[in-house]
Amino acid sequence: MISSPADHAASVDAAAGPASDAARVTGLTSLQHEQTHSEAELALLQQARSRSEAELLALAERTRATLGEEQAGILSGQAKFLADPAFYPPMEKKIREEGVSAREAVQAIVTHTAGRFEALNNPYMQERAADIRDLGQRLLSQLSEDGGGVRLSDIREEVILVAHDLAPSDTVQLDKRYILAFVTRAGGKTSHTSLLARSLGIAAVVGAGEAVGDIADGDQLIVDGDEGVIIVQPDEATLAEYRQRQTAAEYEARELEAYLGQPAISRDGVTVELAANIGTVQEAEAAAELQAEGIGLYRTEFLFMEAKQLPSEEEQTAAYRAVAERMAGKPVIIRTLDIGGDKALPYLQLPREDNPFLGYRAIRIGLDRKELLLTQLRAILRASAYGQLKIMFPMISGLSEWRQARALYEQARAELEAEGVAIASPDELEVGIMVEIPSAALQADRLAREVDFFSIGTNDLVQYTLAVDRMNEHVAYLYDYFHPAVLQLIRRVIDAAHHEGKWAGMCGGMAGDPLAAPLLLGLGLDEWSMDAGAIVRIKRALASLDSGACRQLADELLALDTPQEVRAALARHQFEAQ
Ligand code: PEP
Ligand code: MG
Repeated sequence: MISSPADHAASVDAAAGPASDAARVTGLTSLQHEQTHSEAELALLQQARSRSEAELLALAERTRATLGEEQAGILSGQAKFLADPAFYPPMEKKIREEGVSAREAVQAIVTHTAGRFEALNNPYMQERAADIRDLGQRLLSQLSEDGGGVRLSDIREEVILVAHDLAPSDTVQLDKRYILAFVTRAGGKTSHTSLLARSLGIAAVVGAGEAVGDIADGDQLIVDGDEGVIIVQPDEATLAEYRQRQTAAEYEARELEAYLGQPAISRDGVTVELAANIGTVQEAEAAAELQAEGIGLYRTEFLFMEAKQLPSEEEQTAAYRAVAERMAGKPVIIRTLDIGGDKALPYLQLPREDNPFLGYRAIRIGLDRKELLLTQLRAILRASAYGQLKIMFPMISGLSEWRQARALYEQARAELEAEGVAIASPDELEVGIMVEIPSAALQADRLAREVDFFSIGTNDLVQYTLAVDRMNEHVAYLYDYFHPAVLQLIRRVIDAAHHEGKWAGMCGGMAGDPLAAPLLLGLGLDEWSMDAGAIVRIKRALASLDSGACRQLADELLALDTPQEVRAALARHQFEAQ
């Protein structure tokens, strides 16, 4: 996203405070002792609270209509928090007992509450501190003389917004016509702000850190949301390059629109199922909008990472049910907890390990702490009455792990049946595994006799086959799903499934790569699951492909020596197919 040179990026930098709008930053940390009459201050606080609540509910209502239930929930959640016993009553108490002003009480309690969230060793909870500060800013702006000052929604010129942090309630108000992009110093991938930016389709780099300090008001900026890159005061050559990229991206977006309503079908009429990978209920909304034919991977660990303690069976059932209902009868594959490796759960107190990716992870934890997996399986089964759910076990290394996991599933089913709970019948609910460890790929013929489906997890399959840590940038050059050894494993898995009359999918990153599409079509992959945004690109790639030619191409590719040769051959094929 490039701001036009005529009106250089007029950035609004709120580095002095946690909110995005400079005019609303009132310095939560600088307490000034204002001696005021308590009763009057209590009345002011009460007024600020009811006005803030009304504002938030109205905003939630508008957001529900434009962005959907999940996004609206962030705002109505803030409105609800206004009544939280640990939030509002302590403010009143402070005014009464310490004689401080309403303003000081808000500042103190917000700083204290947000600080408590931040102190928790959990990225999700830390990001919720931003929600609380946002709420504090709203109360403070109600308490200020002008009732709020300049708001982001008042901006009427094209700008790139630069802020210390951008609160969710500010983000939903951004008007795409004027806010071309935004950059924040704080925040992370799981922050609501990131999720909202994605839903709004605004280019954003969230959590840019100290780089934000180099930006001055009026600087020209390039914000590359795809790559997470900001370029301050670009030179002419960089500017020209990005202008070209922007034009190409706009052209591509228009071209891709034509495929939105189309089926996923090759030139010669072979259809495949294009599904989406999600981590939250909210992403199911986006998946449905982008016409995913199902959810090929619901990474349930985010539900666990967002919680302070293990989510109960009821809480899990509600989340799985919400996704099932949102997908309205389309298949939803729920992967059981894949924690460990790079994903921690503070409340589980997992041991520190030298090689976490080779250690206590995913199904290994589930089979060790059986009550944990059993609860999750019960929750999925209970939600199975509300849609077409499937269960998938991660990191299965061979038959004994699969059989133990399957036995727990049978146990959960038997328990619920005995309790008289309505659940999908065994025929309606498929149970499969992720193939992401080479040993499982090598035993795919045996596993295929027992499972209902495979889903190939190339993200891990590549790291384990090539012995390349997927997180280590020093060996990233070796990490390549086009390595012929990986391709042989993929072929083996698909063939094994088909031999037993089962289907094979893929939910690793390779499935969403248009360059891989001819190969995967040629290998006969049945279900392709990817970030919802990639679906339309794969549809376009498929439309130019002939399945017979792709089968032949796949044979040729598997006979090559190196990933570089495979990539080059695919690039040639892509060029010729255009
Ligand atoms: C994979 O390994 O390919 C996969 C989809 O799972 P994750 O990325 O969650 O490990
Ligand atoms: Mg994996």
